[in-house]
Amino acid sequence: MRRLIIILSLVAVTPIAAQQRPPSESVLSRFLRYVRIDTQSAEDQGRVPSTPKQFALSRLLAKELESLGAAEVRVDEHAIVYAKVPGNLPSGHEAPVLGFLSHLDTAPNVSGTAVTPVVHAGYRGGDITLPGDPTQIIRAADNPDLGSLVGDDIVTADGTTLLGSDDKAGVAEIMTLVDLLAHNPEIQHGTLAIGFLPDEEVGGAVAVFDLKGFGARFAYTVDGGGLGGINDETFSARSAYLTFKGRDGAPVKGRLVNSVYAAADFIGRIPPSIRAENVEGREGYLHPYVGNLTVGESTLKLRMRDFTRKGLDDQEALLRSLMAETQARFPAVAIGFDVKDLFFNMKDSLTRYPKLIEHAMAATRRAGLEPRLSPIRGGTDGSNLTNRGLPTPDLFTGGHNFHTRLEWNSRRGLEKTVEMLVRLVGLFAIDPPRPS
Ligand SMILES: [Zn+2]
Repeated sequence: MRRLIIILSLVAVTPIAAQQRPPSESVLSRFLRYVRIDTQSAEDQGRVPSTPKQFALSRLLAKELESLGAAEVRVDEHAIVYAKVPGNLPSGHEAPVLGFLSHLDTAPNVSGTAVTPVVHAGYRGGDITLPGDPTQIIRAADNPDLGSLVGDDIVTADGTTLLGSDDKAGVAEIMTLVDLLAHNPEIQHGTLAIGFLPDEEVGGAVAVFDLKGFGARFAYTVDGGGLGGINDETFSARSAYLTFKGRDGAPVKGRLVNSVYAAADFIGRIPPSIRAENVEGREGYLHPYVGNLTVGESTLKLRMRDFTRKGLDDQEALLRSLMAETQARFPAVAIGFDVKDLFFNMKDSLTRYPKLIEHAMAATRRAGLEPRLSPIRGGTDGSNLTNRGLPTPDLFTGGHNFHTRLEWNSRRGLEKTVEMLVRLVGLFAIDPPRPS
């Protein structure tokens, strides 16, 4: 019986792909066009977008969305693109609005100016030397996923810039999804909300994102890595701020209370077993990363990271006990402590809607790939949106080596991601998530 069900479900799904009409432009061609547009973001600009040049891609995408029949297309003052793809379900069938998000900008640390994409057609295996700078070599030994892509067309930059697959792969893949749905009206789907954001790499845009106007009940960011990778977990994060108040004065016996020694004493007490440089996998960490030392007052900021709130609470308790030890040794120094919540592990909210991950995994399998669930040792736009009430896990894009000149993707990476997205939209239409 079980076997029969599997066969039936394959029959129900395969013919759609077999009869599918191609998009008006291939995902690879779109991707190659978008990566040539410089959208590098910049740190500490105090405005969104951090660089006005990101508007160039926003406006282009809005125009293209309109020509593909999307509705309610707009670019706001922050260069965020919003659009809807109206659903085509028969009356009586309803599906919640499903959102897809990716980001327009590329990382500030590597140049994104004059990106020259190179297509290495018919990859034969082995290392790939980038033509614009032969010192830049994508080594097969460091890139195990390359092994499964022999015969594929690998896309890189020329070695002088990053490629910008992060996240123009996600942008091109979502645009191709919209294109495919426009040309294949027999693929039934609920209404889709499309969002393209600037400044993901520097933070900021997600805080001004119009969640209500976006109008999705669930969403996915398409901003992950190698084929099959799905991220349903991020760190939970707090920041701690410590002040050590002494008394400034002439460096003469009895005249001053030097806060520098108290700060140093405290830092030295942080156990090596919880330091960022010594942990991995599912372990959290305490990470002092910036501070200021003067006789009269010293300050220290620490990152607190763990996959659970209990883990953060334990870290906070540890910090307080270390502070008490330092205080006992330096009674004349006044130690102050402040802690702030930054974001929470999206899994806490996603577990209420198990179908979000189940469908992503099923769609990945239907695209002929093996899904791999993994936690991100960091936060995403999705962790922020999930905290604001829009459950948003992260899906793969086929990309690798983000934020470096060795960044790459491939024709198969782009095409298989689009295939997964088409399958995902179909699964949502027939079996929408409900709270468990
Ligand atoms: Zn990204």
